[in-house]
Amino acid sequence: MKFSSASLLLAALALAACDTKTATTGEAGTSAATVEKADTAAIDPAAAQTSGTQATATDEANATPAPDPSTISATKAGDAAGILARPQVPILCYHQIRDWTARDSKGAKDYIVPIAAFKAQIKMLADSGYHTISPDQLYAYMTTGAKLPSKPIMLTFDDTDLDQFTIARPTLAQYNYKAMYFVMTVSLGRPHYMTKAMVKQLSDEGNVIGSHTWDHHNVKKYQGKDWETQIDKPTKTLEEITGKKIVYFAYPFGLWNPQAFPELKKRGFVAAFSLAEKRDQNDPLFTIRRIIASGYWSPKTLRNNIVQSF
Ligand SMILES: [Zn+2]
Repeated sequence: MKFSSASLLLAALALAACDTKTATTGEAGTSAATVEKADTAAIDPAAAQTSGTQATATDEANATPAPDPSTISATKAGDAAGILARPQVPILCYHQIRDWTARDSKGAKDYIVPIAAFKAQIKMLADSGYHTISPDQLYAYMTTGAKLPSKPIMLTFDDTDLDQFTIARPTLAQYNYKAMYFVMTVSLGRPHYMTKAMVKQLSDEGNVIGSHTWDHHNVKKYQGKDWETQIDKPTKTLEEITGKKIVYFAYPFGLWNPQAFPELKKRGFVAAFSLAEKRDQNDPLFTIRRIIASGYWSPKTLRNNIVQSF
């Protein structure tokens, strides 16, 4: 099955814009993410902070090594009520980082953050004292209440776009920030997408690589060999590239159903990331919320959305 990268991207953007439209509504800042606000114990991400913030971001991040998720008992990981009771760590989701062109649709611009806007968003996070955490740190916090650095945040990048390597990587490095990259393997090495070597370099530099299917098909529609094509083979590819076990998954378009959870679990995934929708009350580890940091958002709007959505 062959796609041009352009048509794949357009299809992905069109579907994403359609299916997740409610996740972000641009500069107005009224996000569907706030729907969950009422049942979220603490909204302020600072509520999750630990005491003693003398150390620099780097020191703090290094001071809190996350346990291997496989060492955390199934009972703790299955304690949905305990997980839901803890304040959520803000998680941002980015796609493309490039300047808009005349061809970009209104909806697509939520997924395309202009370079200067991206740099300003990341600078705001650093200036506001946010510390990036790894998915292992997040998992340990969610399942055991393990301590996190002050003002924790997770940055995630979906879909393998090349600018995540050329723009995001050096920008994050300025602040000693690490991120999670959810790779769809069909795109590897294609024009405008990252190569396998780039993905390996990101992994070697302390970022975490997650699975984002082979070609971005909606998990809710899998049948027959789809699990093998979309999950088993791409995950194996990513493990071969990074030399590490791949245990985190992001749903294409943020779309999931509970039938997907056992399929992912039996394949060794310990957590999965969606978008702004409400978490599954029985399996919050497989519906970890993220908000799309919109291309329309000023640093101030992003900050407001972080506070309001988590
Ligand atoms: Zn995606």
